[in-house]
Amino acid sequence: MNIPKIVSDFRAGLASDELLVQTCNACGKPNMWPRYACPHCQSENLGWTRSAGQGSLHSFCVLRQGAPEGFEDDIPYAIGVVKLDEGVQLAVRLQPEGTEDWSAYQCDDRVEFVGKDGARECAVFRKSSD
Ligand SMILES: [Zn+2]
Repeated sequence: MNIPKIVSDFRAGLASDELLVQTCNACGKPNMWPRYACPHCQSENLGWTRSAGQGSLHSFCVLRQGAPEGFEDDIPYAIGVVKLDEGVQLAVRLQPEGTEDWSAYQCDDRVEFVGKDGARECAVFRKSSD
């Protein structure tokens, strides 16, 4: 499969347990998801910065049945939208507390980056320890 460089760079970061955010070298603003041109100033001079991995949980849902095709073996799992402190948001997987238990999560919870999902090219977050 031919994976575009803007995707492979992000995935390489995840594989190294780094959450990378595309950042414009011209105006300094972060972009998520990565683009070929900055949506703020249209510059194509884009790079990557390492996110601190801290943010808040905007929304989430737990899937216990009815998974999309190709995700049946992942059931149950939780997906969420995290708003990073850097100001951008992304879709993530949420780490259960205990076995298959996401009942402690609430919207607006502080969450932190854990690493890459074992089987998926996706960032995993958990409730912040602070
Ligand atoms: Zn820019």
